[in-house]
Formats: sequence, C-alpha cells, structure tokens
Amino acid sequence: MSSPHLTPEMSLDGPASLRPDEDQATKHNITVAVRIRPLSSREILRGEEVAWYADGDTVVRNPNVSYAYDWVFAPTTTTCEVYDAAARQVVSGAMEGIYGTIIAYGLTSSGKTHTMHGYKKSPGIIPLAVKDAFSIIQETPNRKFLLRVSYLEIYNEVLNDLLNPAGKKLRIRNDPHGTIVDGIKEEVLLSPAHALSLITAGEEHRHVGSANFNIPSSRSHTVFTLTIESIPYGESNEGDAVTFSQLHLIDLAGSGSSRAETMEIHQKEGSYISKSLLTLGMVISKLTDGKDAHIPFRDSKLTRLLQSSLTGQGRVLLICTVNPASSNAEETHNTLKLAQRAKRIEVQASRNKISDEKSLIKKYQNESRRLKEELELRLEHEEEAKSPLLARIQHLTKLILVSTKVSGPISCLLRLIRDMKELTTSLEKELSHSSSDSQVKISECMEEHPSQALQAKDSLLNSIVMQKNSGVNNEAQQHSHQGKTVPSEISAEPLQNKQQVTVPSEISAGPLQNKQQVSCLTNRLRRLMRDMKQQTTSLEKQIGHSFLDSQVKV
Ligand code: ADP
Ligand code: MG
Repeated sequence: MSSPHLTPEMSLDGPASLRPDEDQATKHNITVAVRIRPLSSREILRGEEVAWYADGDTVVRNPNVSYAYDWVFAPTTTTCEVYDAAARQVVSGAMEGIYGTIIAYGLTSSGKTHTMHGYKKSPGIIPLAVKDAFSIIQETPNRKFLLRVSYLEIYNEVLNDLLNPAGKKLRIRNDPHGTIVDGIKEEVLLSPAHALSLITAGEEHRHVGSANFNIPSSRSHTVFTLTIESIPYGESNEGDAVTFSQLHLIDLAGSGSSRAETMEIHQKEGSYISKSLLTLGMVISKLTDGKDAHIPFRDSKLTRLLQSSLTGQGRVLLICTVNPASSNAEETHNTLKLAQRAKRIEVQASRNKISDEKSLIKKYQNESRRLKEELELRLEHEEEAKSPLLARIQHLTKLILVSTKVSGPISCLLRLIRDMKELTTSLEKELSHSSSDSQVKISECMEEHPSQALQAKDSLLNSIVMQKNSGVNNEAQQHSHQGKTVPSEISAEPLQNKQQVTVPSEISAGPLQNKQQVSCLTNRLRRLMRDMKQQTTSLEKQIGHSFLDSQVKV
C-alpha cells in the first residue's frame, strides 16, 4: 500500500500544531463498507431485478464479477447493525482524540440519507453517533468533555451554514487544526436531543428536491461536524494538554442514477454535484495510484473540506450505498469500483492534542475557575462586610435589651399579682372551714380581673370582719349567706359582669381567733394593691395601655 502523496498544498493543511501521539500513531487504510438496500415496492412493480447482491459479510457480486470490502451489509441489515459493526469504532476513536470521518457515497436513491440521518423508527448514523458520544462521556468518569457541532451544506459549490441562515458563502481556510470553515456557527451540545433539534432546524434551511417517483432526494452535500475536546477530570490539570478531535459525518448528494431521476435535478445543480463527486473520485484515484502527482483537492469544495480527513491523522469510513436494481447495474458498478480504490487510501490514526489557548474546554474551565475565585473573593468581602453588620445587629440587640427594661414593671406587676393570688388563697383558707364547694371563688376572679376582685375581696373581708366583730348572726343575714348571695355592696362593686362571688355559709359561724390574722392579711393585700397601682401607672406611662393589657393578660 502506498502512503498518501503529500504535495506542498497538502502539507499546508497538515495539522502542524496538533500534537499527534507518536506512539499511538498507526497507519491503516480507509475502511469501506457497502450497504445494499432492498428493492422498493415500486421497483418490484416496475419489474426490476436484483443485479448486485451480498456474498457473505465482505463480498458484493453480480454473476460475472465480485468485489471485497471491509463489510458488506445485505438488504436486511438495520442501520444500528451497520453502526455497531463499522461506525462505532470511528466515533469512539474521535472521543479519544482521533479524527474521524464517515461519508455516505452512492447513487441517487441508493440509501445515503437513510443511512446517515434515518428517521425516528430507524435512526441513522448521525443520531446514533451523537447518542454514543454521550454514552461514552457517561462511561468515562476520569475525563471532562466539551462537545460542539456545526452543520453545513455544499450547494452549487457554495458553503452555507445550516445552523445560521445568515451564514452564506462561507470560506474555507487552512489552519493547523485542519480545514476550517470561517465564521461557521458552532453550538455547544448539551444532550443528544439537543443535537437532533439542531439537525431538524438545520434541515429546514437545506436545499432538497423531489426526484422521480416523489422520492425525496438531496440536492446538496451536508457535513455534520462534532468537535470533541477532553481533559482529565480533576482540578489540577493546568499542565494537561487538551485532547482534540473532529468527527465529520457526511451525507453526499446523489451522484445521479437513472436518466429519469437525474433529469429531476436541475442541470446546473447536477453539474455541480457531479463536479464534487468526480473530483472526489479523482482525488481518491490520485491518492492511491502511487504517483507523486498533484492532488486536486481545491477543484471542489467537497474535496477541499475532506482534505485533512483524507490526508491527516484519523479514521475514515466510506459507506457505499447500493441500489441493487438491474436498471442501475452499470452506475452501481462504477460506484463499487471507486469504493475499491478508496479502500487503498492510507491514513494514520493518532490522538491529537491542542494547546490551552486553542481549547474551548480550557477557556470555559479557566473562566469557571476565575468566576469561582471571584465568587469566593466576594464572599470573603461579604464576610468582612459582615463585621459592621454584626456590630450593628449587636447594637440593635442592645436596643432590644433597652426595650426589655420596659418589661421590668410588667414582671413586677405579674409578681405582685402572683403574690396577691397566694395571699388570697391563704386568706380563703383562713376564712373557710372546709366546705370546699361553697368556697369563695375570689382566686378565679383574680386571674381575670385582679383589681376588681381585690376590691371585692377587700369589701367582703371588711364586711365579714365587721359582722364577726359585732357578733351579729341574725336569721335573715344567715339566710342570705346560705343562699350564697353576695352582699349588696359587693355586687354593686365593679364586678358587674355578673361573675358570682360566693362565700362559705359557715363564715358567720367562723372562729373569731382568726380575726387578727385576717386583718393582717387584708393589710398586706392593700399594700400590694397600692404597689400594683403604682407599677401600673408607671408601666402605662412607658408603653401605653394596649401593651399593658396584653402583657397582663399573658
Ligand atoms: P439517497 O439519500 O441516497 O438519495 P435515500 O436515503 O433517500 O437515498 O433512500 C431512498 C429511498 O430508499 C428512501 O425511501 C429510503 O427510505 C429507502 N431506503 C434506503 N435505504 C434503505 C434500506 N437500507 N432499507 C430500507 N429502505 C431503504
Ligand atoms: Mg439523500
């Protein structure tokens, strides 16, 4: 096998600043797969016969001649099987930094678009490759990846950006990274679904035409490019070079087949399509004929785009799609012969690295790191800014402490009420002689209306003491007391809310030896009452009535 002949023109495009991993670089040939599609029902109806068929997994033949390839897929083979057998290794190589190109080449209506794009029920190599790329990322926890895509068409020898309708007549430029399309829009990929939506949007801008029998036929070549960058996982990869590669997935326009179908494509378009494909054929021939001749990459946009793939480091898979119908037999033969030649092109698979400044993943990572540092710095500043805030909060807390001083009179008042309750209870004990059910319920009343209850109690005590002192124990009064009716002067007191204050029936018969104790307790209660009034007044001055009310109730 002869190696590609590097002309000065080609060496220009050589990936100079790409650093191929010399140890890993292995020379190998372009791999070629032939995929034969089934005859369509129309073709069968038309009386077409199968002219070319698969003979095993690697041979295509007709009754007279046979050709061997890396793979031959019979009409029953699904696109997934084609992907697994032939395309997967190109995609996985690209994920490891080895350039990859997959080209579907064949006559119009032979199955190129079916193979590359497919449809929902039978996804093509492009969606399968994108899905696989994401699976590989998932299964490679020791590396970080950045994927981006571009999508362009070559229509009438003009490059149009399918991801950006404004991007027309784009120019191709030589770059150390291979062949670069100036100003092409690249979208960073987030998911396989994202890629599919981009393709769908791109297809809207594509030039397609209907060939004969309403079969959709592309009038333009499309190049879907997945650019892959990866670096080892971890923060400390400052010195690590970035692994870089591109995966080109190319669906060529039909090369024309039956005269009827070719006539569907306008003459101008047809001639441009032919020019591209003829030049591709020429380039492939010259790359493999062993002569040190000029290789006409620049004669067509397609070959110019494919130049670095066909000469540089990488893996190339040519899928030659075949319509086995007898009416196309001769054109199919030519396609198969070209695929045979292409099989002899030698390329070199090696992992490529790029420098930091060229890498988008490094750029993003550095930006992310810078932003993180900036964020940390800001947080630090905020920490610093916290100190005056904390001081202010402390100051405000002090103010709140000032306000707790207000609670001084309240707690004092509550204490007084508590004391009064205790006193009242002991007073009740002194006054009562067991009959618990008929006890004076002054303590209950105290909780709700302390001052009124106190006044009521005061009056009650006075009257009791008076009665006891005078020794009066007449029937009427006793009857009145037995009926548990409050004396008239008490009921006329502020307890107008009809709260019943009862006194024990035995009071009138109570022992007189308690008199002094009762009087003492009454005096203490009076003092407390006075103190409480004073505290209430002071509290009212400080915080107003409403606050006082609520606090006292609490
Ligand atoms: P091309 O892109 O080469 O012009 P298409 O991919 O559009 O051709 O295929 C033409 C027709 O043949 C389409 O209707 C497509 O669904 C059908 N076809 C192509 N390849 C296959 C296949 N392997 N199995 C079944 N149908 C196929
Ligand atoms: Mg097509």
